[in-house]
Amino acid sequence: MSSFNRITAEQLTQIAAIVGDVNTSTTQADIDLHARDQSHHAAHPAEVVIFPTAAQQVADVLKLANEARIPVTPWGVGTGLEGNSIPVYGGILMSFERMARIVEVYADDFQVTVQPGIGHRDLNAELARYGLFYPPDPGANATVGGMLANNAAGIRTVKYGASKDNILRMQVALADGRLIHVGSRSVKQAAGYDLLHLFVGSEGTLGVITEATLKLMPVPAHVSAVVAAFPSVESAVETVVAVRGSGLDPAALELVDAAHAVMLSQSDGVELSEHPHVFMEFHAAHEATLNDGLEMVREICEEMGAVSFRATTDTAERKRLWHARHHSYEIMVRSHPDKQFFIMDVAVPISAYPELIDYVETIKAERDITAYLIGHAGDGNIHVEFPYTPGETYDKAMAANHDIVMKALALGGTATGEHGVGIGKAKYMPIEHGDALDVMRVIKQSLDPNGILNPGKVFPE
Ligand SMILES: Cc1cc2nc3c(=O)[nH]c(=O)nc-3n(C[C@H](O)[C@H](O)[C@H](O)COP(=O)(O)OP(=O)(O)OC[C@H]3O[C@@H](n4cnc5c(N)ncnc54)[C@H](O)[C@@H]3O)c2cc1C
Repeated sequence: MSSFNRITAEQLTQIAAIVGDVNTSTTQADIDLHARDQSHHAAHPAEVVIFPTAAQQVADVLKLANEARIPVTPWGVGTGLEGNSIPVYGGILMSFERMARIVEVYADDFQVTVQPGIGHRDLNAELARYGLFYPPDPGANATVGGMLANNAAGIRTVKYGASKDNILRMQVALADGRLIHVGSRSVKQAAGYDLLHLFVGSEGTLGVITEATLKLMPVPAHVSAVVAAFPSVESAVETVVAVRGSGLDPAALELVDAAHAVMLSQSDGVELSEHPHVFMEFHAAHEATLNDGLEMVREICEEMGAVSFRATTDTAERKRLWHARHHSYEIMVRSHPDKQFFIMDVAVPISAYPELIDYVETIKAERDITAYLIGHAGDGNIHVEFPYTPGETYDKAMAANHDIVMKALALGGTATGEHGVGIGKAKYMPIEHGDALDVMRVIKQSLDPNGILNPGKVFPE
C-alpha cells in the first residue's frame, strides 16, 4: 500500500474552496459519525468530512487528493456490514448526503437517473407516483451509490436481480479528476469493454459514482405473502429448493430460523411458532395467476411437512409480515441489549444450500455458539448473526465465521453474496480468486496508481 500524507491547512482550505465551507467539516461530531459503519470493525477517524453537491466538485477533490497522496473514502449512509466505508487510512471522507436528487424520470423507458446519495426507499416513495419501482432492496435505507458500490442485493433479488442487474449507465469520477460515463440508456449494450460492471461492486476503490441511471419495474398489480413453518431447518431449506425448482418465480424466498421466529413473534406480534420459517412473496399481473401459484406453493409446503401455512393477498397483513422480516436485525439487537453483533454473509449454488445450512447448524451445536440464521435462501445466500461479548465470545464467532466461509468456497460459492469484501473478507480474496486477483490488482493500479481510493479494502494487505 502506498504511503499517504496528512492533509495540510493549505490543502484543507483548497478542499473547502472546491466544495464550499458549509460542506466541509472537521467537527468531532461529523468525524465520529463517519468513523464506522454498521459492522463489527473498529472505528477509524477521517481528517475531514466533506459533503459535495456536484459531480465536478467530486472530480476536483479527487484530483487534488491524488496529487497530494491523500486517501479518499466515499460514504453512502454507512449501513455496510464489512467496514467497507470506514476511512482506515484517515484522509477525506466524502459523504453523498447532499447529492441525493432524482435527476430525471424516464417513465416510458422504465428508467430513472439519480444522484448517488438518494436512499432506495426515498427513491421508491417518489417512483410510486409513476407506478414504478427500483427493485434491489437491502434491509436498510442504503443509498443508490453505496448499493452499486457494494453490488447490494436483498430480499427481491431472487426475482429482480442485484444492483448489478438494475443499472444501465453511470457517471464516475476517476482518481485523476476525469469524469467519465460508462454504459448507456439502451437496455442492450455491446459496445466495448463492460466498464459499467467493473465499477459496480468495486466498493469505491476504482472510482466514485456521481450519477446513475437505473432500470425500473412496474409495481406489480397483485402481490401475495406466504409464511410457512417447518419441523426442521432441513425441511425448510428443501422447500426453498423445491419452490425454486417449480418455476413459480418467487419475488422473495427467505429463511428464518426457529429462534429468530420467536424473537419476531415476541417483538412484532406476527404470531410465528418456534419453528424454522420460510417467508415468500409472489407478484403477478392477474389475480388468477397469483391464486394458481399459491395453490402450488401450498402443495409443495405440505409435501415437505409444513406444520403451518399462511397465505395472504391482504396488503395490511402482508406489510405486517414483511415488516417483521425487514426489522429482524433491530429486533435481534433489542433482544440482546448487552451484546454486540457480527453478521456474516456467504452464498452458494442453490443445490448446495442444504449442505451449507446443515454445516452451520452442526458448528453451532458442537461449539455451543449462539447464532441466528436468516437469509435470502432463494439465492443460496445466508447470514449468520452472532451476538457476542468482546473479549469473551468474539473469537469463537470469528472462528465459526472463518469455517463457514471456507465451507461456502468449498461448495463452489463465494465469501460474500452481497455485503462485499470491505475489510473482513479481504483475506479470502486470494483463495476465492487465485490468479484473477492479480488481474484485479492491475486494474486497480491503472485506475488508481497512488491507491488513494478507499485504501485498505478488497485486497489483503
Ligand atoms: C439491518 C441491515 C440489513 C442489511 N441487509 C442487506 C441486504 O439484505 N442486502 C445487502 O446487499 N446488504 C444489506 N445490508 C448492508 C448494506 O445496507 C449494503 O451494503 C449497502 O449497499 C450499503 O449502502 P450505504 O449507502 O450504507 O453505503 P456505505 O455503507 O456508506 O458504503 C458502502 C460502500 O460503498 C462505497 N460508496 C458509497 N457511495 C459511493 C459512491 N457514490 N461511489 C463509490 N463508492 C461509494 C463506500 O466507500 C463503501 O465501500 C444491510 C445492512 C443493515 C444494517
